[in-house]
Amino acid sequence: MKLEDFPKDIQPFIMPEPRNDMVYRCLGCGKEHGIAKLLYTCPDCGQVLLLYDLQFERLKQISGATWRKIFDYRKLLTLPALKGIYRYHEFIGPVVPLDAIVYLGEGHTPVVEANARMQELAGGRFYFKNDGQNPSASFKDRGMASALSYIHFLIRQGLVKDVLAVCASTGDTSASAALYASYLQPHIKSAVLLPHKKVTPQQLAQPLGSGAKVFEIPGVFDDCMKVVEALSEKYAVALLNSKNAWRILGQESYSYEIAQDFEYDMAGKVVVVPIGNAGNITAVMSGFLKFYETGVIETLPKIIGVQSIHANPVYRYYQEPDPSRRHFVPVTVRPSVAQAAMIGNPVSMPRVMYLTDLYNQTAGRPQVFFVEVTEQSIMDWQLLANRNGHVACTHGGESLAGLLAARKLGYVGSDETAILDSTAHAIKFSGFQEMYFEKKFPDEFEVTPNASLINLPELIHPAHPTKVPAPGNPLTGSDFERFVRAVSLEIADKLGLKEV
Ligand SMILES: *Cc1c(COP(=O)(O)O)cnc(C)c1O
Ligand SMILES: [Zn+2]
Repeated sequence: MKLEDFPKDIQPFIMPEPRNDMVYRCLGCGKEHGIAKLLYTCPDCGQVLLLYDLQFERLKQISGATWRKIFDYRKLLTLPALKGIYRYHEFIGPVVPLDAIVYLGEGHTPVVEANARMQELAGGRFYFKNDGQNPSASFKDRGMASALSYIHFLIRQGLVKDVLAVCASTGDTSASAALYASYLQPHIKSAVLLPHKKVTPQQLAQPLGSGAKVFEIPGVFDDCMKVVEALSEKYAVALLNSKNAWRILGQESYSYEIAQDFEYDMAGKVVVVPIGNAGNITAVMSGFLKFYETGVIETLPKIIGVQSIHANPVYRYYQEPDPSRRHFVPVTVRPSVAQAAMIGNPVSMPRVMYLTDLYNQTAGRPQVFFVEVTEQSIMDWQLLANRNGHVACTHGGESLAGLLAARKLGYVGSDETAILDSTAHAIKFSGFQEMYFEKKFPDEFEVTPNASLINLPELIHPAHPTKVPAPGNPLTGSDFERFVRAVSLEIADKLGLKEV
């Protein structure tokens, strides 16, 4: 739809006006730093940063009802810059002009309601929001679109050039970083560091296909992260991990979309997200807080953060009920099917501590909860979900297992509606499904396949016709007819089909 065809009263609000009033704010010393240079930690105290809009108060001059209309009408635009996460431009990155926005199809992922059978099994109403339907098949594209749009803007202003973007990754960050960097050829090149044999073949293929320089490092993600941090401290590189606050800002779009998907009614809603490096749950809390403060939503939804018992430092921290006695201790991770969340020392932990307190305070009651789930439950729920029409990855299974754990603990009532983050596409993690079906899980995963969920292909090899077709050797005439008859008979027999 063209701008001039929109109702007159909403027209002046549709096209965002870029404003240059953002700062990095340190979560340690509270100091603010300008954004002209890319920063990842506070130059004064070394703590992580978040981005703030110094004119955020101005957003409150527009009523919640008007904001809702602005976002709903923007849906009708065909302008690529506003088709993805920047539909919420004023909240995502008001400094980025529209012509610097990189849009590769990210965001606005489907929200799919579970069927009656699944809802019965899960004890209440729930939806998956399928973030695997992003361009590189994970939610990381939201943050990457934001980080790379900002870097693109810096390049256009001549503030940076010949950017080398680097990241450590459990697989999906590198797939996304490499994809977005490749779009900005020749101005940006990317290099990614992966823990050797700790990403799936699909995830390894992605940055290779996008032309990134790929390095495999012994150890786990936490080790890769240390190397990348050392590189970013010493050399002129752009760090694309969620330590980079621009990533967080883009990932806030997940919350904005949920609000819009449910017509901004967040009463009785529960948002469930898996936690790895904790960038995503940071963004989800921050996003809902911003919509709440500006009146776009009138209730803060409940948030459930889920971790596997094999990588659960955040869960452990919140196990201590007395806040003054909480003490963060990194854990040594064990193998997990939620491999993209297999992180023992999350970079965003200070952000989680800060925002969890703020969220609960703002809500006036505990609204953020943390649960842990077994590897077994992650696999079983993922497979069961996918047998009922979903395309959930193992982390989507973790969200569903987490919802059940949260219900058991009384955090979620049967009258509440859950929105589960399936953070990537099932096919990225199909190797775990294969291990389950073929009963090949190494012991340390602690997964015992449930026979009722196993599914394997059957080779039909008819005994009678001596001839079978092969590539380059097709059958013809009566040989072919005999083959077709024999094979169809055998299949009909196995399926118990009756003749018509
Ligand atoms: C990165 C990732 C996570 C964990 O998100 P964090 O922001 O690191 O907590 C979960 N699932 C998938 C598929 C991921 O790629
Ligand atoms: Zn500081």
